Amino acid sequence: MKRIAIIGGGISGLSAAFALEKRRQAGASLEYALFESNPRFGGVLVTERVDGCLVEAGPDSFLTEKPWASDLSREVGLGDQLVGSNDADRITYILTKGKLVVIPNGLMFMVPTKITPTMLSPLFSTRTKLQMAREWFHPPRKANADETVASFVERHYGPEMVDRLADPLLSGVYGGEAAQLSVRAVLPRFAEMEATYGSLGRAMLAARKKMGHASKVSARPLFTSLKDGMQQLVDAIVSRLPASALNANTPVQRVERPNGGWVISAGYASDEFDAVIMAIPAYSAAELLSTTNDGLAAELRGIQYTSSVTVNLGYDRTVRASLPPGFGFLVPRSEGKRMLAATFVHNKFPHRAPNDRALLRCFVGGARNERVLEAPDEEIVRMVHEELGQIIKLRADPLFTRVYRWRRSMAQYGVGHLERLQRIDSLLQSLHGVALAGNGYRGIGVPDCVRSGSEAAIKALLAIGLSEGTSQRVAS
Ligand SMILES: Cc1cc2nc3c(=O)[nH]c(=O)nc-3n(C[C@H](O)[C@H](O)[C@H](O)COP(=O)(O)OP(=O)(O)OC[C@H]3O[C@@H](n4cnc5c(N)ncnc54)[C@H](O)[C@@H]3O)c2cc1C
Repeated sequence: MKRIAIIGGGISGLSAAFALEKRRQAGASLEYALFESNPRFGGVLVTERVDGCLVEAGPDSFLTEKPWASDLSREVGLGDQLVGSNDADRITYILTKGKLVVIPNGLMFMVPTKITPTMLSPLFSTRTKLQMAREWFHPPRKANADETVASFVERHYGPEMVDRLADPLLSGVYGGEAAQLSVRAVLPRFAEMEATYGSLGRAMLAARKKMGHASKVSARPLFTSLKDGMQQLVDAIVSRLPASALNANTPVQRVERPNGGWVISAGYASDEFDAVIMAIPAYSAAELLSTTNDGLAAELRGIQYTSSVTVNLGYDRTVRASLPPGFGFLVPRSEGKRMLAATFVHNKFPHRAPNDRALLRCFVGGARNERVLEAPDEEIVRMVHEELGQIIKLRADPLFTRVYRWRRSMAQYGVGHLERLQRIDSLLQSLHGVALAGNGYRGIGVPDCVRSGSEAAIKALLAIGLSEGTSQRVAS
């Protein structure tokens, strides 16, 4: 009987466990144990019901175009529970000189694909609009070295595009800064477009033409979630795993490799395994591997993380009627606010709030403001309330508030991240049976974490000679 340990019971570790469970049920001579420090599984996926509203503490949905989270939901019997975002009302605003300005139609991330709405938009100055026109003639460029998203975007569209769009969009997804994040790791498609076409605008139009009719027919929503929230996915996976494999409240303190196998120590107990999947933040994996391979530990420690705070606020029907339409707004750094973004949940996922409630979800923290995590809840709520008053003139007191802190939870793919991953992969070759999963490596969103968990399971199975029947491909 071969044994695999999984450290970390967030969505990455749960996905790994589910992949192993399928293999076990298919007859593999396999046993596994999942170790989680917290009393509950799911990591940052937490959903609460408050005053009739479905409140998401961490992620609220995932990108539909990345299939792995939807596929997993179907596999655990939640196919009929998948819900799309209400894209008929999909408007996003950027706070610009104190006013909310709609992101113009046809802007793909920061690439204009429709000329008229972009040229008429007050979001950009004439100077930026001229630069957008010049961008059309940008020559192809195969860069030798990685660079920051900020410098890449600035070369194409100028500094205003970095401030108004690239930076706020990235702080929404990564809690990071365009001036720190790697273009090759975070926007690989754009780096390829530049190498082939030069102009991102021309590349985007060429891609659309290639997709042709298919892109018009596909009316898939941008975001997908679950009717009862992200926690529903966690609960469904956990219910399909044997209770004997689940060890909550069990932080792993040591990982050692005495005689070719792996000894995992948690609490007062130690146990032996043939392989280990580390589905924890890279800095935690670094701690556990520091006695086994300090070179690998140093590389893992080099992956930075930022923290974030989500603040959910519920309001009554009068407030709901007074709020702007759309999914919410992003706040550029130049606006001098502490809030990074706000989602109008009752518009994005209408079933999450009764008709007589408005539900707002605000983000603070990120690379811009790590210290906010230390502030008490009341102070964070007061600050968000004050800024909502300034931005959308919301003065009413909320009916309820919920503050959630996520310390060092968002990995930052800095310049040179892909090269670091190559070094990590080659160092891992000497550690037979160790596989890494989680948001620190090849994608931060829930779907990528699901993929990373199932791929780590396949790697662990390969390492212990149980690869038969493992049909999924593993990305190198
Ligand atoms: C506020 C917020 C909003 C987000 N919004 C979205 C979104 O809308 N859409 C989207 O796709 N993505 C979103 N993300 C990103 C995505 O949710 C995460 O990247 C993903 O869920 C991370 O999953 P994970 O399992 O890798 O890590 P985690 O969820 O961090 O889980 C790691 C687990 O390991 C455990 N652990 C750590 N050390 C040990 C140890 N030594 N022993 C045992 N257990 C240990 C921890 O307790 C934790 O439960 C968001 C993230 C945050 C924080």
